[in-house]
Amino acid sequence: MTFEDLKLSPDVLRAVTDAGYTEPTPIQELAIPYVQMGRDILGCAQTGTGKTASFVLPMIDILTAGRARARMPRSLILTPTRELAAQIAVNFETYGKYHKLSMALIIGGESIVGQEQKLDRGVDVLIATPGRLIDHFGRGGLLLNDVKILVIDEGDRMLDMGFIPDIERIVSFLPKIRQTLFFSATFPPEIRRLADKFLINPKEINVTPPASPAEMVDHFLVPTGMREKGAVLRRLLNADQVQNALIFCNRKRDVDILAISLKRHGLSVAALHGDMPQPARTETLRAFKAGEINLLVATDVAGRGLDIRGLSHVFNFDVPIHAEDYVHRIGRTGRAGHRGRAITLTAPDERKFLSAITTLIGKDIPRLDIPGIAGPEDDGGAAEARPAAEPEARRPDAKKSRRGDGRGRNRRDRKAAPGTGKGGDGERTNGTPIKVDKRTPVEADKRTPKSPPKEQVVGLGDHVPAFMMRPPKKPTDAP
Ligand code: AMP
Repeated sequence: MTFEDLKLSPDVLRAVTDAGYTEPTPIQELAIPYVQMGRDILGCAQTGTGKTASFVLPMIDILTAGRARARMPRSLILTPTRELAAQIAVNFETYGKYHKLSMALIIGGESIVGQEQKLDRGVDVLIATPGRLIDHFGRGGLLLNDVKILVIDEGDRMLDMGFIPDIERIVSFLPKIRQTLFFSATFPPEIRRLADKFLINPKEINVTPPASPAEMVDHFLVPTGMREKGAVLRRLLNADQVQNALIFCNRKRDVDILAISLKRHGLSVAALHGDMPQPARTETLRAFKAGEINLLVATDVAGRGLDIRGLSHVFNFDVPIHAEDYVHRIGRTGRAGHRGRAITLTAPDERKFLSAITTLIGKDIPRLDIPGIAGPEDDGGAAEARPAAEPEARRPDAKKSRRGDGRGRNRRDRKAAPGTGKGGDGERTNGTPIKVDKRTPVEADKRTPKSPPKEQVVGLGDHVPAFMMRPPKKPTDAP
């Protein structure tokens, strides 16, 4: 099938050709005709499938007929994160470049007055995160009774981030007669309930089995001790031909700590998480996408939807606690026809999260064997010093910090290994070939005789103070 077969307008087709796309992706092929018919859609699709264009292209044509009135947008797209909202706005600009549609991006962290002025002029397309949209509504700067098309993107992520009550409230302000396009990568019962409530006789579209890793991603495990993760990561960054990489941590404070540590080791790195002011988030992401920064350490705020061209690697510094986040994280690479690599550092006390992931994806993840990198058996129980934590969006209550986990690890990381130039913990600064061990971690653990670590671990000298090895009393850490 070609884009011409999809009966898009000549101007949209021209913009699609300019973007370099020759064939519609499966979700575009399946969804576009139904969006054009005015049907509701229930789409089960991951990011990276071309999902955004599947609603943006037909919406441009539908909205071309008609005019927006002040403060009364004609379509509304709700997304869980500001980054995703901004990315959808770029899609509208790219594919709508031969049209004169007006658009507003209503996200937190940016001037509410500037946004109000835009709404006052009237917009055809309103792209928003739920919280800021409700703020505008409360200030009387927005009326939603002219919305003809509603898109809810990344429904399951909305659920994870606690946005469902906001979404229900927003939808209650919309006209009952409208077209609704609802996308989610997975359909837990709460998302099903919402879909039943919001959609009328939807066309169900399922382009990939839920929660299957993208086919273009080669993914691996590197078993390691919790405290050795910083050094192992740096070793991998040197050895695995990394051009640019997203590095995921489960908690915001670990993102900051790791980014500082990598910077100290001379790497081009920035941090991205939900506690940063929006202008800093936007600028960081821009710099990363433009290649001005090679490494981005992030929480799951960057886990979904982000489209970074030519991303060579994803690293999971922490095993994600929620198995489906694994699929989203690693799906940031292996996009648009390029192969990508995803490497997960796994410590002994993260095994239960790992087994939830292998159950979800229905297969084991092969292990990368790296000479000189200590496996979990060498951890000596130190992993207990840093219990696995809840990820960013799910622990809004947790704001206080806890000592003796990430800091301990990074103090060790910062010490330079004698004779190795700049890297710490005995790592080499020029690449060492990495072999793929097809055995699962469990098989490998059974068959590999335990041997002492080949390289001496350096850090806090011979002695680690006992207080740093004890688990904290109460887990009150901020995600
Ligand atoms: P999405 O799933 O919407 O995040 O899109 C993933 C990536 O696929 C983006 O880089 C899009 O620009 C790209 N893309 C969208 N549609 C097509 C297409 N028909 N052919 C090739 N690439 C596409």
